[in-house]
Amino acid sequence: MYSYSKLAAADPEVAAAIKGEVDRENSHLEMIASENFVSEAVMSALGSQFTNKYAEGYPGDRYYGGCQYADIVENLARDRAKELFGCEYVNVQPHAGSQANTAVQFALLKPGDTILGMSLDAGGHLSHGCVANISGRYFNVANYGVNEDGYIDYDEILKIAKEARPKLIICGASAYPRKIDFKKFREIADEVDAFLLADIAHISGLVAAGCHMSPIPYAHVTTSTTHKTLRGPRGGMIMSTNDFAVDHKIDKAIFPGLQGGPLMHVIAAKAVCYGEALKPEFKVYAQNIIDNAQALSGNLMDRGIKVFTGGTDNHLMLVDLRPLGISGKEAEDKLDEAGITCNKNAIPNDTSSRSVTGGIRLGTAALTTRGLGTADMETIAEAIKLVIVDRTTEAKNEAKRMVTELTERYPLYENVE
Ligand SMILES: *Cc1c(COP(=O)(O)O)cnc(C)c1O
Repeated sequence: MYSYSKLAAADPEVAAAIKGEVDRENSHLEMIASENFVSEAVMSALGSQFTNKYAEGYPGDRYYGGCQYADIVENLARDRAKELFGCEYVNVQPHAGSQANTAVQFALLKPGDTILGMSLDAGGHLSHGCVANISGRYFNVANYGVNEDGYIDYDEILKIAKEARPKLIICGASAYPRKIDFKKFREIADEVDAFLLADIAHISGLVAAGCHMSPIPYAHVTTSTTHKTLRGPRGGMIMSTNDFAVDHKIDKAIFPGLQGGPLMHVIAAKAVCYGEALKPEFKVYAQNIIDNAQALSGNLMDRGIKVFTGGTDNHLMLVDLRPLGISGKEAEDKLDEAGITCNKNAIPNDTSSRSVTGGIRLGTAALTTRGLGTADMETIAEAIKLVIVDRTTEAKNEAKRMVTELTERYPLYENVE
């Protein structure tokens, strides 16, 4: 499987970079919470002839000829996504999660309208109103954060919403380890007469499997990526129910509002991913992700390492490094040297800069795909402790040895040539 021999003959430089990436994925423990490993079936669809096809428009209503197979595959993706999430409307064309959010804002708002989103520092996403993003540039932004214990405080959000009078409230996060109550968010939105957008980019796999409350019945619109816990190709999607009649507006916001031709090879891969997520095995996978995350956070805390909020309900956790006197940046670099890939992350109320940070974010979605289980989480916790607490060269070498033992026991790609 995964033969790159033709590519290697035609373009050795690109082939060498791909080989390097394959080796890196094989030899490291992937703990970036937003990453995962797609199946060979998803990868095949991604590398298919659909990349050649222009299919501007939607199934049955295209601007180009020859779209009969593009229609089949986009309809498959849509039907499966609707079944998977229990929604009546879906748009599978957003190139990524950020485009999905921008399209919803473009469809529902006018420049200068107010949006209320979680602040970046508390775990929100750039596309929820950050000044560096189009959402922060075109809209007036109000923010909510988390309370001292690290939890979303719904009473506080209602207070902020009553003052800011947003037209759109956005919930969903990139670094929030606890459950999100979409019903409460909808009650807040109704009180101030705002739309509610639920962005489940990180947790959509858990939602699809029934391991996290679904926002579909509560949010006016729901967006997601397809490449995080959902384990599909890099991409985005937008969902809604019929009783919220924004469908046509959102379709138009994606095309022709924001994008040109859809990435049909990615849409084919999304169809495969939804098909995989509909299988009973996916429910087991999602529960295993959470079991692994809870085992890892428990084992870290047993070793005196502070896990923000004291644990996790989902696939990720925030390790608060401040008591250890090591920065997020330093921990990220040192863990990478030991073969563990993760990212530095601000801890809410962190005073250090965004390029340094006082914490790291760890996720278990990719490790779980690789086959690691709760017993392995103890080994990983020990390796992390050796690197970020003990911090000697011997400790790091020992951690590297433990990581290599795991990566060899759970091979990721065995037949890449
Ligand atoms: C990852 C993420 C996105 C979008 O990601 P892309 O990189 O644009 O695909 C949007 N919202 C949240 C909450 C995310 O975590």
